[in-house]
Amino acid sequence: LVRARDEALQDPLTKVFNRKGFDQRLEALLRTAPAPSLSHGLVMIDIDHFKSINDTHGHVFGDQVLRGLADVMRACVTDPRCSIARYGGEEFAILLPDSSLADGVRTAELVRQRIKAMKIRDRRTQEVILRVTVSGGVTTLIDGDDPSSWIGRSDAALYKSKQGGRDKVSCC
Ligand code: GH3
Ligand code: MG
Ligand code: MG
Repeated sequence: LVRARDEALQDPLTKVFNRKGFDQRLEALLRTAPAPSLSHGLVMIDIDHFKSINDTHGHVFGDQVLRGLADVMRACVTDPRCSIARYGGEEFAILLPDSSLADGVRTAELVRQRIKAMKIRDRRTQEVILRVTVSGGVTTLIDGDDPSSWIGRSDAALYKSKQGGRDKVSCC
């Protein structure tokens, strides 16, 4: 039963939370008062030009890139209280309980830099065939937020990074 429940909240491709798991974790966080002088953080990460990666290398390869990003996020987010989720398609979210905007930016920057440093090679020739970048949007929970206002602000921060040329992290 426990496994069935966990699987219902997990994205089968990347093994992070799926959208349903994310929504549950987000709502739980909204009900939890942050520690004094801290807030809760939300980081949105979206792969840049992912459509063209799929178009050039195929969807199976694209799926491997999604798994690779999830692995990098797991390596960057070691606090077990944090949740990593696939929000949809090639967009991911990280919930950081009891943290500041600077904590969120640090986490998003770590993911961005590790992804950028990743060299994806052709298995046969070892030639580097792809460099991937991601854009990030970071916010903290503010008074009066509900799930949609918080996600909306985080999406707006992500949009700023996309508008600013991608491969960056912005806050809102
Ligand atoms: P941007 O830099 O603005 O984010 O551009 P983008 O190409 O990353 O964004 P766009 O929304 O145009 O394309 C997202 C692509 O992600 C299109 C869709 O086919 C692909 N995609 C969504 N889910 C999956 C998946 O599970 N596997 C694979 N391989 N591709 C996926
Ligand atoms: Mg994208
Ligand atoms: Mg997207």
